[in-house]
Amino acid sequence: MGETFDLAASLDQRQPANALIVGAGYIGLEMAEALTARGIRVTQVEQLPEVLPTVDAELGALVHDGLTRHGVEVVTATTVTRISRGATGLRVDGRTATGPAAWNVDLVLVVVGVRPDTELLTTAGAQTGARGAVVVDHGMATSLPGVWAAGDCVITHHRQLGLTYLPLGTTAHKQGRVAGHNAIGGRARFHGSFGTQVVKVFDLVIARTGLRDHEATGLGHSPLTVQSSPNDHKAYYPTAYPITIRVTGDTTTGQLLGAQLVGWLGTEVSKRVDTYATALFHGMTVAEISDLDLSYTPPLGSPWDAVQMATQAWESWVTDLHTEVSA
Ligand SMILES: Cc1cc2nc3c(=O)[nH]c(=O)nc-3n(C[C@H](O)[C@H](O)[C@H](O)COP(=O)(O)OP(=O)(O)OC[C@H]3O[C@@H](n4cnc5c(N)ncnc54)[C@H](O)[C@@H]3O)c2cc1C
Repeated sequence: MGETFDLAASLDQRQPANALIVGAGYIGLEMAEALTARGIRVTQVEQLPEVLPTVDAELGALVHDGLTRHGVEVVTATTVTRISRGATGLRVDGRTATGPAAWNVDLVLVVVGVRPDTELLTTAGAQTGARGAVVVDHGMATSLPGVWAAGDCVITHHRQLGLTYLPLGTTAHKQGRVAGHNAIGGRARFHGSFGTQVVKVFDLVIARTGLRDHEATGLGHSPLTVQSSPNDHKAYYPTAYPITIRVTGDTTTGQLLGAQLVGWLGTEVSKRVDTYATALFHGMTVAEISDLDLSYTPPLGSPWDAVQMATQAWESWVTDLHTEVSA
């Protein structure tokens, strides 16, 4: 919060006309929206080929278009190599696939990820693990006797990936409750994360839960990801819009492995990703999603909800795949 207040004060004092944001992860994108809302021209530079690399590039491309539609200049596949004081303002140098690039701007925000702040615990001798975060067990106990820890400073128990580092507010709250409970003699357990997340960028909402194809392959699954675009509610009722949904499942076991979604604000993307997250928690197969008794009224959904239409699209692909193989 300290950095937020410093930035807000700096914006008020300096009134920058333009800004460059290094990084197009979810926080960088939120900052692009916030600065644009203040009338600041934003250039967003990302070293990877597409923005929002926490989702597949097919969905990142939709976010890319959304940023461009709102006046953000998006520069991908470009690495910022240097920030220096220019004749006026700041000079940013970068390297693209084809050669050097440079910008002169009034403000630079570097938003390139989170590093756990572990000094208090590591000085006391706490063991660290993934990405230098403090190791905790499922009860949030550190390696130090009588010390529990939670939140961005600790490793994340992921229900599919095992031990990882995935700092999120939703996870921090659950871990904090467990740590507090156990610190006063309880026996609570953190049941793990699926990395479920959602972000609003201008008029789009992007969400994901569980594994993507490459992560699932790394864990020995036979994953297939199928993209479909069911409407958020019945098309005959005004203002129906498609939600782009990518469902990942295991073609051998039929198990649901993950889902990614992009839709307009108002298409209830967060409710839908939470349905997938709940299904993942209970180890459901993709086919079983069709058995869920989900709510329906024409202005808000369909008798088969978008969640189910997307899993049914996945099932059709797998059926075709198995038919092709046996033929
Ligand atoms: C811009 C932004 C947007 C985000 N949006 C989302 C979102 O939409 N959804 C989501 O799930 N997550 C989101 N997150 C992540 C989420 O904010 C963090 O995961 C969460 O706040 C972690 O909680 P925490 O208590 O571990 O750490 P913090 O919230 O960072 O709190 C730790 C506090 O401890 C203080 N502190 C540190 N060291 C000491 C010390 N030695 N002594 C005393 N105090 C100390 C710090 O100053 C700080 O106030 C976002 C993060 C950012 C930066």
